[in-house]
Amino acid sequence: MPQVRVCRAFWTERVRETEKQEILNAIAVPLLAWYDVHKRTLPWRGTKDPYQVWVSEIMLQQTRVAAVLPYYERWMRELPDVEALAAVENERLMKLWEGLGYYSRVRNMQKAAKMLLTEYNGKFPQTSKELCRLPGIGSYTAGAIASIAFGEAVPAVDGNVLRVAARTAGIADDIMDPNTRKLFQKMMEKAVPKERPGEYNQALMDLGAVVCVPNGAPDCGQCPLAGLCVANRLELQNTLPVRAKKAKRRVEELTLYLLVRGDQIAMRKRPEEGLLAGLWEFPHVPGTLDETAAAQVLRGWGVTPLEWQKKITGKHIFTHVEWHMTGYLLTVRGGGEDFLWAGAETLQTLAVPSAFGKFLEHALRRMNSR
Ligand code: SF4
Repeated sequence: MPQVRVCRAFWTERVRETEKQEILNAIAVPLLAWYDVHKRTLPWRGTKDPYQVWVSEIMLQQTRVAAVLPYYERWMRELPDVEALAAVENERLMKLWEGLGYYSRVRNMQKAAKMLLTEYNGKFPQTSKELCRLPGIGSYTAGAIASIAFGEAVPAVDGNVLRVAARTAGIADDIMDPNTRKLFQKMMEKAVPKERPGEYNQALMDLGAVVCVPNGAPDCGQCPLAGLCVANRLELQNTLPVRAKKAKRRVEELTLYLLVRGDQIAMRKRPEEGLLAGLWEFPHVPGTLDETAAAQVLRGWGVTPLEWQKKITGKHIFTHVEWHMTGYLLTVRGGGEDFLWAGAETLQTLAVPSAFGKFLEHALRRMNSR
């Protein structure tokens, strides 16, 4: 009944600002009581080490908890502190991040680690304001570190919190709008309790992840905020939060070459700036080429095809662009120094973005079958 929904959404706009704030101020008590019983067991839970909080929070941006777990554990074994992160070789750092995507995150982490060593004597600053000075740390991450590690009463407002707050307080503003985000930030600054702010923020993360979920029905019957929640009262769970439609993604077509020469395969390093900067890729050109057109490109590279073995297609979705890829696996001779000719062992040490994961699997299978 869309009309009913519009009327109810309209009503939520009439909820007085003070009332919305009062609702948000009231969530701390039931939320923390729920958290004490239902909190998730995670390797970074219970720690007050700002380094561990930081690493987990950066990894969790845009990535599910289950996917992060093995990365986090491997990272902590290899890079247990700021000194180790500042010192690690770029190639190894990229390899540790391979598959998590959004590589600027890990580059910024190393920059921040170096800054911590030079400007802060290797210690994290203890306020969210000061933490925001570090590369790659925005108000969400700063809030998480400052509240969990140092007990500062500041919120950590991410998509989960925007959703829970919009539903609970009945806020119908577009959460994609930066002004709305500022409004939520201000409201949550007032709502965060002086006692246990770190656990409060983690409780909101857990509630947003397992109860007040984004897609499908939130589990209002199990929610500690159900008695306060405007969305629950007015059945607006599917209407809130309001999110303006995103612009359509641009589609780019690519033709990839998996060039096998003897027991080696051609790889190429991406430029140091831009998308997937500095990572390794299979040589490719724009467009979807058939074998005849693809062979012409090879001639330009000084490569002679011997046997076209397989055609592989794949797709990868980034935030603003979608790659539709056609790959050719073939044996060749020739080919100069434009490429790194990598054996199976070297190939496994290169940081290859997950966009090429399917092609990498084929390449490794082909090389290991020799
Ligand atoms: S009652 Fe439902 S909609 Fe409201 S916060 Fe809880 S799970 Fe979300």
